[in-house]
Amino acid sequence: MKYALVEGIRLEATTGVRGNCPGCSSPMIPKCGLKRLHHWAHKSTVACDRWWEPETEWHRGWKNQFPAEWQEIRHIASNGDVHIADVKSASGSVLEFQYSAITPEERAAREAFYGRMVWIVNGNRLKRDLPSFQEALTYAPSAETKARSWLLSDQDSAIIGRWRGGSHPVFLDFGDADFSSPWLPSTGLIWWLTYIPRGRVIATPVHRQSVIDHFLSGTPIRGFGRLKPPPSRRSALPGFEAYRARKDARRWRF
Ligand SMILES: [Zn+2]
Repeated sequence: MKYALVEGIRLEATTGVRGNCPGCSSPMIPKCGLKRLHHWAHKSTVACDRWWEPETEWHRGWKNQFPAEWQEIRHIASNGDVHIADVKSASGSVLEFQYSAITPEERAAREAFYGRMVWIVNGNRLKRDLPSFQEALTYAPSAETKARSWLLSDQDSAIIGRWRGGSHPVFLDFGDADFSSPWLPSTGLIWWLTYIPRGRVIATPVHRQSVIDHFLSGTPIRGFGRLKPPPSRRSALPGFEAYRARKDARRWRF
């Protein structure tokens, strides 16, 4: 974890300092080696958050986009289990940054537990995911949405298939992978997946920074203009809350 409590204060790992887990209160020791990023580890194997996954540079990079006091927020379930949300915004939205594989059961449990949450998923864990996603886009028609997007089957690529069946927004982060498109920038993209009935999914590229800004200050998540009108026009997508509210009422035209 990035933070431990040292005499009651949340601190990052520092050599020679002892802390306690903000989740379960057990002792933590700082790990400040050269190989992995500096972090706190439980001194002994304890039952802390069973949903916790080892932090990567990628996790840390995302967390650091948000205020320190929003990061690693403890929640206690009715059965006493401790869960630590990666980020919880001032308005109460939880952001989970997911690198490892996750079972559908655990995913559903986390969605039910946190309620209002989104998934930011690392798309680069498995080598085949990016090429198969890019290939799926190549053959997919445009979706009838305000911003430029594609209509895919939820079985068109493995990573889309693995994330189907949930009820919360999923953003796929392929880093600065090149999508070889004349109208997509080469950096700063993230793919918003919206699963819709009959096994389909709408993939919308949006500005990564606009997703961060949305959770920081409520500004709309921004996608890209449709091919007609001209691609230079950017269009605003509805905010996450508005999106959730309208999700069920929306009618898709295909
Ligand atoms: Zn703990």
